[in-house]
Amino acid sequence: MVCTAYTLENLKKDSSKFIEYCKQCGFCTPACPVLKVSDYVETYGPRGRLLQIRGLVFNELRPGKGLSSRIYCTLCGFCEVKCIASLKLTDLYIASREYLTSSGLTPEEIKSVIDGIVGNNNPYNVDPSIKAMWLDYLPEKPPTKGRVVYWAGCTSSIRSPETSANAYQLIKELSGSDVAVLDSEPCCGWPLYLVGDVDGYKVQVSRALKALEGCGAGVVITTCPACTRSLRDKARELGITSNVKVYHIVEWLYELMKEGKLPKLQLEETITYHDPCELGRHMKIFKEPREIIKNIQGLKLVEMRGNQLESNCCGGGGLYQVVHMDRALKIASLRLKDIPQGVKVLVSACPSCKMTLETAVRNEGLDVEVLDIVDLLMRAKKV
Ligand code: SF4
Ligand code: SF4
Repeated sequence: MVCTAYTLENLKKDSSKFIEYCKQCGFCTPACPVLKVSDYVETYGPRGRLLQIRGLVFNELRPGKGLSSRIYCTLCGFCEVKCIASLKLTDLYIASREYLTSSGLTPEEIKSVIDGIVGNNNPYNVDPSIKAMWLDYLPEKPPTKGRVVYWAGCTSSIRSPETSANAYQLIKELSGSDVAVLDSEPCCGWPLYLVGDVDGYKVQVSRALKALEGCGAGVVITTCPACTRSLRDKARELGITSNVKVYHIVEWLYELMKEGKLPKLQLEETITYHDPCELGRHMKIFKEPREIIKNIQGLKLVEMRGNQLESNCCGGGGLYQVVHMDRALKIASLRLKDIPQGVKVLVSACPSCKMTLETAVRNEGLDVEVLDIVDLLMRAKKV
């Protein structure tokens, strides 16, 4: 039997189903990046996580800091791909975080994320003027109203300002129109969803969509897979409707390419591509970035060991790094071992992946450059 409804309510009333559904077969085990950096102690793998969630919800285990933080993982979804019972494991992990939040058991480190969104409209809890600093990389201030809007998102704005500026320039050039940026872009609410505050997420994402509608947006393009999932897929799934059409930039570029509107580009380089978990496994966007890369003449794409559905996580997702930064960076270092021999450029399409992998490259002292796909396109020459 396939369980497709791991909700908080089901968690509370359906104890037998936990064990009944999970066969404890362990097929998911080798996929888990958290387990790999935790000496393969099963407590940190999917099976152990399921048993601890069950123990927590049914008062079989004493709640505490250790248990709460062990329930956090990267939400990469690789265990779900491998699960022979087709369990919706990431839904279950979110439901368990909902349980932690509603029971006052949220890990201490996560509280600054929530405070940041409430107080400063970003999970990094920095002053909004810092979030807007990426605009200084542009030759002129963009309009704050318009039909086409670039949504940078908190991580790209704060951690990857040059990529945000590159994305804006690229969209402006290819759309052939003015591109707006919200006057004070709010958080899309995704971190609230990730901490299990689903009601808080609904309020925040509705606020974000209203702000976009208010500026006249018809098309919104973002470089962040999490923002795409939040503003479009999850909002829709939870019944929040909007007339605004949201695209991750690779989807938008792919549409342009199909219409013959993407210029021919040239770059003599050999690269590899890391599939972000949010973009790939969770949204099934695998073909688009690869086709865009293949459109660049002279560029050779060599696939990583572990790609597309079988891509290994970089450690940067699910707020895992907020609770376990050391292990998240070990996961990122492991991911670097999947780079094909001799390849010096690692491309991704997610600001969190870029940030995590760049840190790991520095830690490992590797001669590898980490680029967003937008940076790669801006580096290529028009032919
Ligand atoms: S979602 Fe990823 S990190 Fe979390 S338990 Fe599954 S494989 Fe491990
Ligand atoms: S593969 Fe699925 S059924 Fe098997 S142990 Fe993992 S979660 Fe349970």
